[in-house]
Amino acid sequence: MSSPAADHRASELRQLLNRAAHAYYVLDAPEMEDPVYDRLYRELLDLEQAHPELITADSPTQRVGGAPAQGFQSVRHRIGLLSLDNAFNTEELEAWYGRLLKVLDREPATALPMVGELKIDGNALALSYEHGVLVRAATRGDGEQGEEITANVRTIGSVPLRLQLEHPPEWLEVRGEAFIPDGTFAAINAEREARGEALFANPRNACAGTLRQLDPKVVAARRLDFFAYTLHLPPGWQATGADAPLPSSQWESLQWLKAAGFKVNPNAELLPDLAAVEAFFERWDSGRRQLDYATDGVVVKLNDLQLQDAAGFTQKAPRWAIALKYPAEEAPSKLLRLACQVGRTGVVTPVAEFEAVPLAGTSVSRATLHNADRLAELDLHAGDTIVVRKAGEIIPEVVRVLAELRPAGARRLELPHTCPECSSELVREEGEAATRCVNSSCPAILRGALRHWVSKGALDVDGLGSKLIEQLVDRGLVGSIADLYRLDGALLASLERMGQKSADNLVAALEASKAQPWHRQLYGLGIHHVGEVNAKALASAFPSAAELATAATETPDLITAVYGIGGEIAQSLQQWFATPANQALLSELERLGFSLASSDEELAAAAERATAGNSSLSGQTFVLTGTLPSLSRSEAKALIEAAGGKVSGSVSKKTSFVVAGEEAGSKLTKAESLGVTVLDEAGLKALLEAA
Ligand code: NAD
Repeated sequence: MSSPAADHRASELRQLLNRAAHAYYVLDAPEMEDPVYDRLYRELLDLEQAHPELITADSPTQRVGGAPAQGFQSVRHRIGLLSLDNAFNTEELEAWYGRLLKVLDREPATALPMVGELKIDGNALALSYEHGVLVRAATRGDGEQGEEITANVRTIGSVPLRLQLEHPPEWLEVRGEAFIPDGTFAAINAEREARGEALFANPRNACAGTLRQLDPKVVAARRLDFFAYTLHLPPGWQATGADAPLPSSQWESLQWLKAAGFKVNPNAELLPDLAAVEAFFERWDSGRRQLDYATDGVVVKLNDLQLQDAAGFTQKAPRWAIALKYPAEEAPSKLLRLACQVGRTGVVTPVAEFEAVPLAGTSVSRATLHNADRLAELDLHAGDTIVVRKAGEIIPEVVRVLAELRPAGARRLELPHTCPECSSELVREEGEAATRCVNSSCPAILRGALRHWVSKGALDVDGLGSKLIEQLVDRGLVGSIADLYRLDGALLASLERMGQKSADNLVAALEASKAQPWHRQLYGLGIHHVGEVNAKALASAFPSAAELATAATETPDLITAVYGIGGEIAQSLQQWFATPANQALLSELERLGFSLASSDEELAAAAERATAGNSSLSGQTFVLTGTLPSLSRSEAKALIEAAGGKVSGSVSKKTSFVVAGEEAGSKLTKAESLGVTVLDEAGLKALLEAA
């Protein structure tokens, strides 16, 4: 028996999905992202499978597509035109294959040849030919009845009006995908924008909207294209003369369609077993980005037509085929908690924590909400269903809230008024987006400052991770950066997950960090707006902390005279050096053995660079992709440009280097295929040091 909660959820989902399907299929103006629809649909399907009594006749799981639109004659398909079941990962593909073998009464590991085809993101068409002549074209509609759109389809150049057959059968039915190539789609939307009309959400909706135009001239102008993929011939028909013989497999059907004059997608492959299917799917994950039409997965079909007949159909889809979809970049998820992070500058960032969802190949359960304004704009409530996006290299974000699925009486979420770490009142300055904790002894700010000080681009201290920093701060063992240098091995060794050896190594690493160059020390201080690039520029203009402090507090013009340094940075430096606690920190660091100045060698190298003029990176082009461990995109770009190099957005044969970080995307694949040298962050830094 289903619970009232399941009953309620099923009815909520039915309502939401039915409305979305109407907007999508009938109005050609989707209200929801496809992957979000897919996931909610899957949730409803799972609920109905667990509690079949919840299935109602109006459930979207019981229907194919949408009802035929008004304004077109509705026609009954000679052979039903169904949908496809979906698999969202290879485990689901394997489960489908297991079920198929069972239906066919085969041993579990039997290898059956399959055809892998690209899943073109267009609209299915049913084409009817009589004696070799196109007599009717229809949309899929609800699978049984579609809209008659023959005049429109006649304008598609790749749909043959007469087949290249010597002795065509009395009738034949061809199914395939009408689609709009990407370039044409962009042009259509540009024209619509110029006319002030609503834009199409994607090529598939643009294609559906075009096929339903009442004026075939408009259709002709939109230059649709068509790939054929299914052939139905009259039972018992035999080819005669020069015509290709009756196909006995999907693969032969594709060849037959080609010979009859249809355009067949050239990327289909005959695949001997499931492993080959998975390899095909993986290969096209990046390959499809080079195509000039949209695809959203691959379609896997059992090759043998007799076996297809034996496997048959469910109510909505063939059992012998499955659509294996590429990882979604958007998904719905349930908000679990609104967390607040206090950064090293005191900025409080709201963070959504939600049920983990797979997105763009990784599992995601947290996303930043940026600031109080964004939080208010989203109108987030406790327990909300949110839409989360993570596209390739982009950091996860909450796109919007599905307010229809909001629990009754849910509380609206806001940023707290007090710091979640130290309970002091939070401050939001007039005209600023950020809300801040301004208590400089807030443990969160201290932890952030320590993490920054030991990070790779700063003092680069090995063995002092976030967990250890947390222990040191929480136990009151460290109250400032300088305190790190007073830690002794015995005390460190007594901490959780620390042994004598790692404690000794850490003490040695801290000691060694005192010899890091002045620009790294300056960067490590974490002064607002002084990133790696600015720290380098400032350190070479002011070779010691004392000189920089004097300029910052007395002659700010000298600061802004440094190339790339503006008034905002000068002001931030002025504030920092004028703060007594910061002056005390610098004195303590000096007492602990820091020079806080450039060494003689650094000064000599800088002088040499200044006289050498032209940098060795001039004329070199770099492309950045993925997330680098310590440098942000803009910092890496500025470092490259400061050394004379150029940063470009796309990879070509002329690219000198691709700098790839975590989750690098198609640019990395392209670089590899073009043989462009790929660097990681360390490689880039080495190159910059040498420049
Ligand atoms: P589908 O698009 O997932 O798969 C079936 C279709 O794939 C076929 O009808 C055919 O048109 C197409 N196809 C492409 N290449 C093919 C090939 N080589 N062989 C066979 N078929 C091929 O299923 P559907 O029933 O058409 O529609 C469901 C889809 O529509 C889902 O992806 C869903 O996200 C989307 N949808 C979205 C919304 C929304 O609000 N965004 C609403 C309803 C449906």
